[in-house]
Amino acid sequence: AVVLRGAKPVFVDVREDTLNIDERLIESAITSATRAIFPVHYAGVGCEMDSICKVAEVHDLKVVEDAAQGVNAFYRGRALGTLGHLGAYSFHVTKNFIAGEGGALCINSADLLERAEVLREKGTNRGKFIRGEVDKYTWVDVGSSSLPAEIVSAFLLAQLESIDSITETRRRAYDFYNDRLQLFETEGLIRLPVVPEHCTTNYHLFYILLNDRNTRDGLQAFLKRHGIHSTFHYIPLHSSPMGLRLGGREGELPVTESVAGRLLRLPFFNEITEQQQDRVVEQMTKFFRSPQAV
Ligand SMILES: *Cc1c(COP(=O)(O)O)cnc(C)c1O
Repeated sequence: AVVLRGAKPVFVDVREDTLNIDERLIESAITSATRAIFPVHYAGVGCEMDSICKVAEVHDLKVVEDAAQGVNAFYRGRALGTLGHLGAYSFHVTKNFIAGEGGALCINSADLLERAEVLREKGTNRGKFIRGEVDKYTWVDVGSSSLPAEIVSAFLLAQLESIDSITETRRRAYDFYNDRLQLFETEGLIRLPVVPEHCTTNYHLFYILLNDRNTRDGLQAFLKRHGIHSTFHYIPLHSSPMGLRLGGREGELPVTESVAGRLLRLPFFNEITEQQQDRVVEQMTKFFRSPQAV
């Protein structure tokens, strides 16, 4: 989205604990060309929004939250996506509440609200017309057709009406892994997800950090051989083919690069059963306890 609008994204390294943007590194990345800060709330755990909004205020920048993974998650009791000037939610099929594709924009200031409505309505003031505020609608700005279809919206609405029970289902699956894998963390074999006390997660995903890339790749291959699909997350953007073209270079974000090589997401979805999760833990136990079986 940033590149599409002719701007240049500048990446900032992440914190070791939450894997969210390291708010202490933001200020040194700001130049006179900077316009906005885009914190990504990874795994439904909030970035350090108090510090981020303070930096933004000092430098007169907008804060646009990537809350794609953060629907129904909270920071100091406030919903992710509602803390900056703008916040984007995703209802992509991989998220907690899904419409196949699509999302929502949270708007925190009245002046941005009116324009957003026009941009969404193909550059017209049709929204005002539908509300009876103007007697005809016309072309007033640039715009696109970013409206969700009605049937898809109904499909999504049913999930939003069950937001608490869906979240509770995910909490149970999350806690199961978290409890059962505690021992491996105590032994220094893995690191479990960190959720700071002032953050309420929505249990978007469950990841573990292995000690090095070889162990991660080894565990992933071992699980695969036993019919269990686990995945990495993500290839860092700054050193991706497009990131390199935008001036990124390998080695620039050491924490990001290290974590990307060691992170593994375990099977995690609303319908996962304890039996299935038990199998994952059992195979992981085999991997760690009987190296000869690996
Ligand atoms: C899923 C996701 C997106 C993209 O959301 P879309 O609805 O596919 O546009 C962006 N950022 C993060 C962190 C995501 O997880």
